Amino acid sequence: MSLPVERELRPGCRFCGSPLRHTFVDLGTQPLCQRHVKPEELSQMEPFYPLVAYVCEDCFLVQLEAIVPPDELFRDDYAYFSSYSDSWLAHAQRYCDAMIPRLGLGSGGRVVELASNDGYLLQYFLKQGLEVLGIEPSANVAAEAERRGVPSLVRFFGRETARFVRDRVGHADLLVGNNVLAHVPDLNDFVAGTKILLAERGVLTMEFPHLMRLVEENQFDTIYHEHYSYLSFGTVERIFARHGLTLFDVEELPTHGGSLRIYGRHAESLHEPVRGRVAALREREQAAGMQRLEYYQRFGERVAATKRKLLRFLSDARDAGKRVVGYGAPGKGNTLLNYCGIRTDFLDFTVDRSPHKQGNYLPGTRIPILAPERIREVRPDYVLILPWNLRDEIARQMDDVRGWGGRFVVPIPEVRVLD
Ligand SMILES: [Zn+2]
Repeated sequence: MSLPVERELRPGCRFCGSPLRHTFVDLGTQPLCQRHVKPEELSQMEPFYPLVAYVCEDCFLVQLEAIVPPDELFRDDYAYFSSYSDSWLAHAQRYCDAMIPRLGLGSGGRVVELASNDGYLLQYFLKQGLEVLGIEPSANVAAEAERRGVPSLVRFFGRETARFVRDRVGHADLLVGNNVLAHVPDLNDFVAGTKILLAERGVLTMEFPHLMRLVEENQFDTIYHEHYSYLSFGTVERIFARHGLTLFDVEELPTHGGSLRIYGRHAESLHEPVRGRVAALREREQAAGMQRLEYYQRFGERVAATKRKLLRFLSDARDAGKRVVGYGAPGKGNTLLNYCGIRTDFLDFTVDRSPHKQGNYLPGTRIPILAPERIREVRPDYVLILPWNLRDEIARQMDDVRGWGGRFVVPIPEVRVLD
């Protein structure tokens, strides 16, 4: 059977190059989820791009086609500042407190972070007297890091940047990359760069959302154009191995709906033995079916069913005269709202703590983003929490909502009113 022409034209898997013939989920066409619309832009058009995830039949990397150029995605007005989430800052501090003794990092040790954002993590290493360097492609968040004393190089990371830093600054004793691996268009160039920059006895750690959790918990809204790859442990292990790096440990974390933190070292450097958790997780993924196509091909229908349930809930609430607003303006919220076609007909507005977002509108749906105080003025019946991974933190910050009889609602894994 011959394939349709457009499928033959599609570039291959971004890791192994095999043709991409199998759809994981089709979320329609969507605007870029971090590109908030400013008031003066309301009468202008927004570009929409297809948002379709494929699964590679050979390495099972779930991925988007790189149809949006990276400099279009990560422009200077990139809206995400890591430090606006209390729980993420606490996570960063705990990481720093654990890694310094674990790796025996003393003064003079060098910590390099890839996609260092506003310095949310490196600030803690800096306070402990370590040498730090952030590498961050967005100039405005990097400028914020510089203001906190975190030196930041405004660049994309890959082999070229790795050689540049190695030659001018030196190797990294600890190389960190949190929530960056999935955002890299050229995965092989990025991982090859970590091989170049890592010191002989250095350790790298990377955190990324775990594909197994995405599938099990129906987190389809974490799919967006900025997020090119959706990673299982087995596939990531193969990618690092191809570039001469061994993953010697892995932890499962609750962040971003369920993430992995992998620990890597040079394959030829044996200072860290491979822990039992590595084989255990690899085997759990295999037992779940992650080395078979059927595992991936069932996902799309579950996503469509989730959309129908959420729309049914919102329609019923609106028909009953209830007032519904949103909380948060995260990237994932925009995938959900655009895929479901939820606009101000269902959600009056949403709110966000970040002053960089307030006063703007969500991309595509044009839902206004206001300050959190507006919820207290309006006293809605339902508050739909878009960053559902932070639902406990948000419900605590906004606990007075329950005082007037309001309820919190989460959309994922499926729509549910919280007690
Ligand atoms: Zn592949």
